[in-house]
Amino acid sequence: MPERKGNNQTEFENELKMLGMEKAGISLFDLYEYIEKSIKKSGCDNTLRFSKRFLTEKNIPPETILKWLKSEGGHCDCEVIYNVILPMGDY
Ligand SMILES: [Zn+2]
Repeated sequence: MPERKGNNQTEFENELKMLGMEKAGISLFDLYEYIEKSIKKSGCDNTLRFSKRFLTEKNIPPETILKWLKSEGGHCDCEVIYNVILPMGDY
């Protein structure tokens, strides 16, 4: 499904732009790496704690992004990987 590829990335960037945070220079792949590393270390506790921490560390108010991740099926950190980021394609 080539037209689906990159879709979430674009949406994510749109969310960041809406927040005026496009200059933060982060991508979904950065989020993926951060969550994966954190889950390997501490496991998923069925919340979006790592997603939230990542955004907070990047000085991005997490609420809007977390709401978007949930709307894409990412209700906890491992679901963000499996339902939001991996379906994008190349990871
Ligand atoms: Zn989980």
